[in-house]
Amino acid sequence: MRRWVAIGLSLGLAGPAWSQSGGRPPGAEYQGRGFEFRPVAPGVYLAVGTGKISAESNAVIIEGDRDLLVVDSETSPAAAWALLQELRAVTPKPVKTVVLTHFHYDHAHGTQSFPPGVEVIATEYTKAMLAEGKSMSHPTAAGNRSFASAQVGNATRALDTASTPAVRRELAERREVWQRYLASIATLKPVVPNVTLTGRLTLSRGGREIVILHPGPAHTAGDLVVWLPAERILVTGDLIQPNLPYMGDGFFPGWADAIDSLLALRPAVVLPGHGDAMSDMTRVERQRDYLRDIYAQTATLKREGLAPDEVARRLDLTKYDADYPRPPGWTDEIVVRRRLGTVRRIFEVIDGR
Ligand SMILES: [Zn+2]
Repeated sequence: MRRWVAIGLSLGLAGPAWSQSGGRPPGAEYQGRGFEFRPVAPGVYLAVGTGKISAESNAVIIEGDRDLLVVDSETSPAAAWALLQELRAVTPKPVKTVVLTHFHYDHAHGTQSFPPGVEVIATEYTKAMLAEGKSMSHPTAAGNRSFASAQVGNATRALDTASTPAVRRELAERREVWQRYLASIATLKPVVPNVTLTGRLTLSRGGREIVILHPGPAHTAGDLVVWLPAERILVTGDLIQPNLPYMGDGFFPGWADAIDSLLALRPAVVLPGHGDAMSDMTRVERQRDYLRDIYAQTATLKREGLAPDEVARRLDLTKYDADYPRPPGWTDEIVVRRRLGTVRRIFEVIDGR
């Protein structure tokens, strides 16, 4: 932190109050390592949360000759603070640029912890969503706040009856993670991006070329991906994931077309917003096929006059079961309920709402 304070003061910029005191922001009082920085290529790291702090999405660090570009700003101001603090052990270069792949809370709610003067790049759509408070009012953000409160309550109740010190420790730690998340988002002020693009932007950072692309409406109306042509690394946010992404803001059938346009780049590695790096592109094709299939089946059943809940029940996606195994304990009813959100979204897209 101290280095940023020095930079901030020398530029006459005001950083967050806690940065001026050199302390931790609320919710960042964790012990140990909050992130694992997995090397992907020289100067490229996939940052994955360890569970010590609520870091729900991956970030990607790309080194230039003098500074760093970070893709996605994390789940909360505290998680972003932890990311940047721990990053200093990986490289002393300062962060110059943040690219937000989209506006969802787990990718864009840490930006305020980045150094003053940082360049924040997004699409106009992402900028508008952040500026209008839509990232905070979004059902997934509200749902996560409720989930965090429920987790605190559950852990507190379980602590009353915990039998061994090890279980007590684990419950107390889990409760603290969620309490810290809630403390951090109480300080949240979404940062509005200060650079926007509509198509493509190429940055040259020393010997490295970094291409930022909007491949059309896909996971949201305003996604960006980052492409490193020399390394053939594609950073996708939630547009491509090893597991099925949230589809409630998705575009159909454009999302599948966007994936085709990205596969045409012939990436060697995809760095997704959640989960592990992907080098098997058949998994990416599988996601594309699933998106096309759920759209085509829904459109057909809608034309037959079926209501969304009936459509969700009638969808046959069993051929993807091996690729996307059902989480333990999920009943058919839960699967149908989860699909219903996607079906409703497809209805909206078809009806032009
Ligand atoms: Zn998302």
